[in-house]
Amino acid sequence: MEILNRQVSPFFDKFYSEITKNITKPILFCDISTHPVTSTRDFDGSCEENSEIKIWLNKNQSSDDFEISAAHEITHAVLRREGFPHTTRTQIYAKDEWVSNIGGRLGSSLSDLVIDARLKKSGFDVTQKHLKNIEGKQSQIRKEKEERGQPEPYGPRGCIWAIYYMSSEFGFHRQQRRRFQRTLQENFPEIAKIGDSLIEVVRINGFDKPEKMLKSLVGIRDKLSLQDKIKIIDSLNGTQF
Ligand SMILES: [Zn+2]
Repeated sequence: MEILNRQVSPFFDKFYSEITKNITKPILFCDISTHPVTSTRDFDGSCEENSEIKIWLNKNQSSDDFEISAAHEITHAVLRREGFPHTTRTQIYAKDEWVSNIGGRLGSSLSDLVIDARLKKSGFDVTQKHLKNIEGKQSQIRKEKEERGQPEPYGPRGCIWAIYYMSSEFGFHRQQRRRFQRTLQENFPEIAKIGDSLIEVVRINGFDKPEKMLKSLVGIRDKLSLQDKIKIIDSLNGTQF
C-alpha cells in the first residue's frame, strides 16, 4: 500500500491489515504540515477520531520512522476500541491552543507507553526513535530555559513538561530516563516536583488496563487543576470525567 504517496514495506502492510481488521470507520491519512493547529505541525503524527479516523503524519521522516509513526497512530485507534480512555482534544481545537496541546499530551502520555510496548512486540524497532525523541526533549528544555526562563508551575509549559517527566518514568530505557529526568530537575526544579506527584498518581492507579488508565488520567488532570478545561472520556461508554 501507499500512505501519502509513500510506498510502505511488506512488513508494515501485513501489520496494518491485521490491526485494522475490526475497524469499520474510514481511515484517512493526512499530511501533518497542513494541520489546523499550527503547533501540532511539529509532531511526527497525531490520531484524531470523529466520524472517521484521521491519521496525521510527518512526511519528512525516514522510511522506518514514518512506518513507526503510522503504526503508532493507528494503534491509538485500536486502544480506543479496547476501551482505553481518551481526552477532549479535537472539540476544543484552535479555541485555546495550549489547552488542546495539553489535552493531547495528557491523552497520549500513558497510551504511548502501551503502544510502544506493543509495537516492539510486533517487531518494530521503536528504540532508536524513542532515544532520538528523548534527546530532542533534553535540548528543548535547555533552549527553553535560556529563551523563556522558568515555566510557571501550573501554566501551559509547566503542565506539558510535568506530563513528559511523569511518562518518562514508566517508559523503557532506564539510563535515558534518568538522564532526561535529571535534565528537568536541574533546569526546571519546580516542574520536576510536580512531575513526581504525577508519578505517584500513576503508581497508585496503574495504566495497563482501560479502567486503571482512566483513574490515572483523571488523577493527573486533577492534580494539574485542569478539571474545567480537559475532560477524560471513557471510550467504552462515552462518559466524561
Ligand atoms: Zn501517541
